[in-house]
Amino acid sequence: MPDGSGLLTVDLGAIAENWKALRDRHAGMGGGETGAAVKADAYGLGAAAVVPALAAAGCRHLFVAHLAEGMAIRPLLGQGQMIAVLNGFRPGEDEDAALTPVLNTPGDIAAWSGTGRDALLHIDTGMARLGLTPAETEALAGDPSPLRGLNLRLIMTHLAAADAPGHPLSAEQAARFAAARARLPAAPSSFANSSGLFLGPDYASALARPGCAIYGLNPTPGAPNPMRPVVRLAAPVLQVREIPAGTPVGYGATWVAERPSRIATVAAGYADGYLRALSGRATGRHNGQDLPLVGRVSMDLTTFDVTDHPGIAPGAMIELIGPGLSADDLAALAGTIGYEVLTSLGARYRRDYKQAA
Ligand SMILES: *Cc1c(COP(=O)(O)O)cnc(C)c1O
Repeated sequence: MPDGSGLLTVDLGAIAENWKALRDRHAGMGGGETGAAVKADAYGLGAAAVVPALAAAGCRHLFVAHLAEGMAIRPLLGQGQMIAVLNGFRPGEDEDAALTPVLNTPGDIAAWSGTGRDALLHIDTGMARLGLTPAETEALAGDPSPLRGLNLRLIMTHLAAADAPGHPLSAEQAARFAAARARLPAAPSSFANSSGLFLGPDYASALARPGCAIYGLNPTPGAPNPMRPVVRLAAPVLQVREIPAGTPVGYGATWVAERPSRIATVAAGYADGYLRALSGRATGRHNGQDLPLVGRVSMDLTTFDVTDHPGIAPGAMIELIGPGLSADDLAALAGTIGYEVLTSLGARYRRDYKQAA
């Protein structure tokens, strides 16, 4: 019997291969370098393991969201590797970690002006989320003096609808980005996220910023996933019980056995990121066979109908994420996206990192 917790397996070799495939793809469409988004603990997979694997594969530009995330990964990298903080931070807050701020507002630019530091400038071209507004970009183009005394490494923008090929907003963003860069002081560009790398040469830039595809999520929803799977998740059966027809299972009695049934109770629940919205919808796997999830997912436990699988006993591992049962598949069943499934993966799993060969 295992120690009672689930097992999350992360294939660092697949992460490295996925990153290299994206790098080669970007170069093939006329782009320059390719970095990696490792925010939110490398999309929930563990930045402490993922960042060294990416660095070993040749990745020299990392993107985090928070200052603290950047501080945490700096010791894993050489000073030659750029760690850009998408949400920005104030001068001095990075101490001697030499993080690179992303400047999102005129106030950010003013704060860093004259510091002599490297910085990225983020302009909004159609997302209305973060970055200089069109009016602020226009004002900066008219008077670029606030950029004096800092080293503008890149001008970046972020695609809002890259995962929907043919969405008119992507082409509009490409056009607005090119027009804004032509009016701003010269600097290399940073444009495509994962899905943007599948939209064609108009989305090439000096530095691409893929995230999800590195971790095996499908950057081309609706088409087959070109990336290698990275994550497997399995959790142990704690109990198996025989119930007569008519017996309800779980909170709310939402599922009632129609026949004499065997129910396996597994040690993973919504507190582990096995989303409650999967209740009554998902399947688990054992020896390649599908097991219907029955009743509600609860905080620590989930129940599966194993009536047709007499070999399943306490201690058996039920696969929750794996080949043919991807994080994207679970997300579709739960009405969300694979990003949310990965970043929700809980802290209670044992984690097994398969090193790159
Ligand atoms: C998260 C993020 C990325 C990576 O996006 P993916 O869709 O995961 O490839 C790139 N750029 C910015 C600004 C981001 O916030």
